[in-house]
Amino acid sequence: MIRMSETETSSATAPSATAAPTDLYLDTAASEAVSRAAIEAMLPFLTEAYGNPSSVHAEGATAARALEAARASFAADLGAHPGDVVFTSGGTESDNLAIKGVALAQVRRENAAHAAAAAGDGSTSAASACANPEHAARPRRILISAVEHPAVAESAQWLHDFFGFDVVRIPVDAQAHLDLAALEREAQRGASLACVMMANNEVGTVEPVAQAVRICHGAGVPVHVDAVQAAGTIPVDFRGLDADTMAVSGHKFGAPKGLGALLVRGRTPIEPLISGGGQERGLRSGTQNVAGAVALAVALHEACETMERNSTALVASRDALVRAVLEAVPTARVTGDPVHRLPGHASFVFPGVTGEALLVDLDARGIEVSSGSACAVGRHEAPGTLLAMGLSEVEAKAAIRFSFRAPLADADIRRIAAALHSSLIALHVPGIE
Ligand code: PLP
Repeated sequence: MIRMSETETSSATAPSATAAPTDLYLDTAASEAVSRAAIEAMLPFLTEAYGNPSSVHAEGATAARALEAARASFAADLGAHPGDVVFTSGGTESDNLAIKGVALAQVRRENAAHAAAAAGDGSTSAASACANPEHAARPRRILISAVEHPAVAESAQWLHDFFGFDVVRIPVDAQAHLDLAALEREAQRGASLACVMMANNEVGTVEPVAQAVRICHGAGVPVHVDAVQAAGTIPVDFRGLDADTMAVSGHKFGAPKGLGALLVRGRTPIEPLISGGGQERGLRSGTQNVAGAVALAVALHEACETMERNSTALVASRDALVRAVLEAVPTARVTGDPVHRLPGHASFVFPGVTGEALLVDLDARGIEVSSGSACAVGRHEAPGTLLAMGLSEVEAKAAIRFSFRAPLADADIRRIAAALHSSLIALHVPGIE
């Protein structure tokens, strides 16, 4: 919803005691406001220190120092080393780079091995590309959890369409937890890569990623973690987790849209998707967005500090919201894990209504929510996570997600519950009085 600025509002109509209350934005899982601190930190790199970080002169060196300082700060807040960080345009690009890049590195090794075999010479440099037996002969299979974001699922599908990789979907249970036994069975059969998400965008469930990494590594399968909903919201420790790659997106924690990173361990063979001047360890050519990297690091640091301070209050207000919603609408059902979920994420299905109709009515009442992943909503699709959890298409289309990064005031919780109740009555949902 586009809001009028304060000046526009006051010049159009004088404020009155009966003015509508301000909108409640409850869709931070889709995008978050840009932090003031991030804007202020990035400004000098747009106006004064605008050099190209690859330039040799003093202006370039200033930009390069800022870029590397941002990289070090960003890495430290994610338990990574500065050299692990590849700055990208966001979560989607990072997922694409990880999945296609790791698979294409395998294709390169296979081609090299075939060339060496055709030449009848096992001692060529081509054959030495397969010197690490772990990387030598993996079947062209990508394992993905059944609840991955389209940035992951479509990247895997692309590998199927263009390179014949099999895409194996690992099921989840009724609360969206990854089925670790199924993952282990499939990993034992060999794979190029396994993709698991740290926290689910639609139902907030925090996934057993540490166990998934152990299982996959036990079978010699590298692991990509989509931490887009987790970074800046719950603690993330890339090296501690021992993941091979990890995708992060800035606009989920207060950086401008179009900024993110892929964390990549040096041990992981990966091909770039963008060719050019070799910036970002050759994995993401193109002049770096220095101001953007500074904003990304500052916003993440601020989010991590706030997380430590706020997390207890955030969880308490999430649980209070769940109680208030279930009291106002007894037919509602919580989706996802009720406890091991993102702290500012409450999701439900409301039988008898579509999530889209409900969100439009709530929007008119000043409550801004989502009925699933922003991408699926635009296409009027049922949220894929809910289908994978075993809900019917009709049930899945009755989903609503509330996401927030600051604890909700009691008055706001009461307002949300009352608005929901009024919306469901206005939409003639059976069983609501
Ligand atoms: N992965 C997950 C889990 C997401 O929730 C999103 C966006 O909502 C993405 C990837 C894509 O990130 P971006 O919007 O930065 O491209």
